[in-house]
Amino acid sequence: MMEKQKKFVTRFAPSPNGWLHLGHAYSALYAARQAAAHDGVFLLRIEDIDTGRARAHFVDGIYQDLDWLGLTWPEPVLMQSTRFDTYQGALGNLRDRDLVYPCWASRAEIAAEIQAMPGGAENWPRDPDGAPVYPGIYRDINTQQRQSLMWRGGSYAWRLRMDRAIAEAEKLNGGPLFFTELSDGTPQQVAVEAQLFGDVVLARKDVPTSYHLSVVIDDAEQNITHVTRGRDLIAATHIHRVLQLLLDLPEPHYFHHGLVRDISGRRLSKQAGDAGFRGLRQDGYSRENVIASLPAPIGSGAPL
Ligand code: GLU
Repeated sequence: MMEKQKKFVTRFAPSPNGWLHLGHAYSALYAARQAAAHDGVFLLRIEDIDTGRARAHFVDGIYQDLDWLGLTWPEPVLMQSTRFDTYQGALGNLRDRDLVYPCWASRAEIAAEIQAMPGGAENWPRDPDGAPVYPGIYRDINTQQRQSLMWRGGSYAWRLRMDRAIAEAEKLNGGPLFFTELSDGTPQQVAVEAQLFGDVVLARKDVPTSYHLSVVIDDAEQNITHVTRGRDLIAATHIHRVLQLLLDLPEPHYFHHGLVRDISGRRLSKQAGDAGFRGLRQDGYSRENVIASLPAPIGSGAPL
């Protein structure tokens, strides 16, 4: 008998800490069109774990802007800020297996530690996103030292013991890890190189989870079969694949689409203060104009 194919489910998962820009419009339309092409479902998820930066008016802005683009999605929308207990449970599971450790290091302490290494900061390895790899402070302290730091009461993050995590994930997988990338048209098996990231943070000092932990849990919770997102997040997928194995979560496939760039070729970003496309709407541009201005395959790249 033929195996029944799982229904195609994808999502757009913005963080409400700024207005959506044209890169988000492209990403949301890309996901919705993939869903339509596969007779599947397009979901919206609000990734509002960063309680210091998330704002209710940005959540409203997301709904209004996506609605203006002509998108629809099933209700209720999953809000990550309602799910801290679930993320805590998963972290507890990893803690019980000694796959994470508490880390009290401040940014300044980490920078000083790296600077003091024989080759200095210039020769210290960087992860695929360009950040210096965590130098392992607090990783190998003994139980007594850890307990006395706990007693002192300072805030701490939880970091993944990456070498052990990979070894465990490979054991569970029965061999080396890969993820499936579909954006080139034919499926590519990408070898997982999560070791390049070192001991990443899974729960921050100020937030009891992290992007990496909550995204894999919620992609599973929402039965996402295909993750669509920008190519800027492809490196993170190496970490996600390890976590999926460790937490016994199903494996989605990935479309990491190209990024929208401005006229000078720079990619758009909230950090750089790129204007939201709601501004274009207020300036009188029509939905058709805005969509046409996006790169192919969504628009034609026609200037606004
Ligand atoms: N919330 C993330 C962002 O806004 C995207 C997460 C994802 O698509 O995996 O950058």
